[in-house]
Amino acid sequence: MEQTNEMTIEFDSRSCNESFARVAVAAFMTQLNPTLEEVADVKTALSEAVTNAIVHGYENQVEKIIVRCSISGNLLTISVRDTGKGIEDVAKAMEPLFTTKPDTERSGMGFAFMEAFMDEVAVESALGEGTTVNMKKRIGRPGGENQY
Ligand code: ATP
Ligand code: MG
Repeated sequence: MEQTNEMTIEFDSRSCNESFARVAVAAFMTQLNPTLEEVADVKTALSEAVTNAIVHGYENQVEKIIVRCSISGNLLTISVRDTGKGIEDVAKAMEPLFTTKPDTERSGMGFAFMEAFMDEVAVESALGEGTTVNMKKRIGRPGGENQY
């Protein structure tokens, strides 16, 4: 089996920690020799997931968000987890333009961006228990010279 490399960070659901999470994940993925575009894609997807945990999962109450990353071959896997209010209908929530906060600046495009910038996005959620967004992206050439 291919060797893997993992890291986990846990931080308060404050919007000022979004940039911290973005930079931490970007730094971790540099071992895959990503292009600038690949790093930008991952940072955008991660931001959307973390913002969702802050504004929807916890509705701006300060709780914990856990971001877990792993690298296996050239595959980067990221999960963003909150233990907030959960999503009633995940399929509907993932439709472009669907938002439960239309009166604010939200446009319902977060999941659409995650799906556009990552190869795979899967959401697990239970009402009252929280939400985990699992995302995968292959970085660089298939079978490229990555360390892991
Ligand atoms: P935008 O991301 O464009 O600002 P948005 O956050 O409403 O708007 P999405 O990110 O696509 O759009 O999310 C769609 C909907 O899914 C949200 O309006 C919210 O109801 C629900 N949702 C997303 N993430 C979570 C979460 N972590 N916890 C609870 N509900 C969530
Ligand atoms: Mg969103």
